[in-house]
Amino acid sequence: MLSPDPHPGIPEPEPLTHSTREIMDHVFFLSEEQWRSARESKQLDYVVIGSGPCGFAFAERMLQQDPHCRILMIEQGPFFLPDHVQNLPLPYQALRGHVVETYPWKMSARTTAQPAGCIGFQHGMVPFVGGRSLLWSCWSPRPLHSELSAWPPETVQAIEDHLEDAERLLNVVFADELDMKMSPATRERLSKHRPIFGVLQQQLQARLASRLHRIGSATRCMAAPLSVSACHPEDFEFAKYSTPAPLLALAERQAELCQAGKGSALKIMTDCTVTRIHQRDGVATALETSRGRVQLGAARLILAMGTLPPTTLLLNSFPRLRNAGARYTAHFVSFMLARIRREDFAFAEQLAEMELAALYVAGLNARDGMQYHIQLSALSDRQPANNSPRAARYMPDLVATATGAQLEDSQDHVILACSVLGELDFRSRDNWVRKDAQDDPAQNVTLQVLAGEADRQTWDTMDEATFQLLEQVLSPRGPCSVEYWNGTPGKGCWATSRPILEERRMPGLVHEGSTLWIGENEGSVVGPDYRPWGIDNVYVTGGALWPTAGSWNPTVTMVALAQDLADRLGARPGSPQTSKGAGDPLGLQHRIRKPSSVGVPRRR
Ligand SMILES: Cc1cc2nc3c(=O)[nH]c(=O)nc-3n(C[C@H](O)[C@H](O)[C@H](O)COP(=O)(O)OP(=O)(O)OC[C@H]3O[C@@H](n4cnc5c(N)ncnc54)[C@H](O)[C@@H]3O)c2cc1C
Repeated sequence: MLSPDPHPGIPEPEPLTHSTREIMDHVFFLSEEQWRSARESKQLDYVVIGSGPCGFAFAERMLQQDPHCRILMIEQGPFFLPDHVQNLPLPYQALRGHVVETYPWKMSARTTAQPAGCIGFQHGMVPFVGGRSLLWSCWSPRPLHSELSAWPPETVQAIEDHLEDAERLLNVVFADELDMKMSPATRERLSKHRPIFGVLQQQLQARLASRLHRIGSATRCMAAPLSVSACHPEDFEFAKYSTPAPLLALAERQAELCQAGKGSALKIMTDCTVTRIHQRDGVATALETSRGRVQLGAARLILAMGTLPPTTLLLNSFPRLRNAGARYTAHFVSFMLARIRREDFAFAEQLAEMELAALYVAGLNARDGMQYHIQLSALSDRQPANNSPRAARYMPDLVATATGAQLEDSQDHVILACSVLGELDFRSRDNWVRKDAQDDPAQNVTLQVLAGEADRQTWDTMDEATFQLLEQVLSPRGPCSVEYWNGTPGKGCWATSRPILEERRMPGLVHEGSTLWIGENEGSVVGPDYRPWGIDNVYVTGGALWPTAGSWNPTVTMVALAQDLADRLGARPGSPQTSKGAGDPLGLQHRIRKPSSVGVPRRR
């Protein structure tokens, strides 16, 4: 137990060690005693489950409207990393992928029996304070109106009304605006310390814009919109966005307001898994958790737990809820790494020591109307042997990066890493999540995902589009000067042959969605007010709501809808509510530069 004594060590010695949890609970989160009082008090306005981008966006928006709002946030995991893993010293990058992911579901036997080059599994949860924002790649495109054609008009309107605020919260900046305020001389100097977005970004972007028609299925392209806290004029760093620091800042500010009698504390409980919602006639009355029961009283319950966990929770708690888990979408992924000799580009001599570019290309499988997009990260590094650790720190895509072996003899090349994401067909009846017979209510579901004909078509279309991008659009000398990495990241070689299907198609799905899709009538699971049909005081956020997956990275849209939910629920009854989008009274957006043209998704 931490001592509140201001004279430590007097008259007795203090304990030799403290745990991280003791310290974090003492400063930011709930102690056992505070937790008992919070869960028994029935004095809450909202209980939010999950501390990822959606949970944070909801709480931030609600407290912006009414600082007196009484919110309890419950997070399954402990406090683990203070920041996005790429912002931390390099060794922390080992904490990526399977080592931190959990899979509170079972894949069906038919899914896992699919051959190499097909879907094999669903990427997992990151059960810590901040959720998956600790290691997401931060690509944050807006969906276009036309890319939301199967969505309810009311939800599309809500997205469009809130995207600008969502981008502000997530610090979205276009890659071609990141370093452009600096003089060329400053950029040149800086490029010896970190890769810059300069000539490479501008030139590849221009080349892509003027030759986009060479990719038959492409619909638009632009500089990548990235969630990074952009440079202060005197600050040459940029950092990827993640939830923990803004969440702690919000908790700290609310604690101060509470002490001054001007607000309520944001109560956060960590290491606590919600396993069941108790209900009476469709009204949630209490939560069963790994650390005791929470009485809801008049509180509304906000599910901000990702996509599969809230589905499991609702399947276990409201057995009569119709259609939950009957629809499933996600993005299947191809990854290709290529390189082109730097001297092939007319601008080669203008490139600084280390340069990066990040480009977004969207397209369509016209036969089935399914979307795909390519995330292209380009790196030109004249001394990869020395610079590769620094380049890794700033790579725009956490997943699409080159390994040491791939960079080793690439000092004379521009490396082009393509993550390509395709939309899983939401119409397939073969894809579902169902409750199974396992005992643990936090993970008693089975997930089946089988690629159908439409998915195969989309996958072929997007792979072909990526080859066209590299060979017809970006390579000045055409296909024969593009080399691809053949083999696995650790064992392979550069060759002019294209990587085979099994090498380029990833077994893991990302951006799962649609299990609790939103719609205008009871054919959907959730109504336009974010409440599952027939349930009174429970609200859903995040990818579970997606009627269709689209292909665009989803988080900025999720945040926009979580903000819309907060606006619709409004403040506590009777409290003076500030107007929608009322600035930033909590000062949480202190490091944000708003992109000047952020309101218009730019086709270049
Ligand atoms: C490697 C990687 C790269 C990505 N790149 C991008 C990208 O470039 N662009 C993009 O838009 N998206 C990207 N994503 C996806 C993005 O991270 C998610 O869309 C986003 O984090 C979802 O936010 P969320 O709040 O809905 O859920 P999460 O971030 O998953 O947070 C949910 C939280 O709920 C908690 N929780 C779950 N169940 C319970 C329970 N029963 N009780 C209590 N707490 C619970 C979890 O522990 C977690 O902290 C990426 C994801 C990964 C893993």
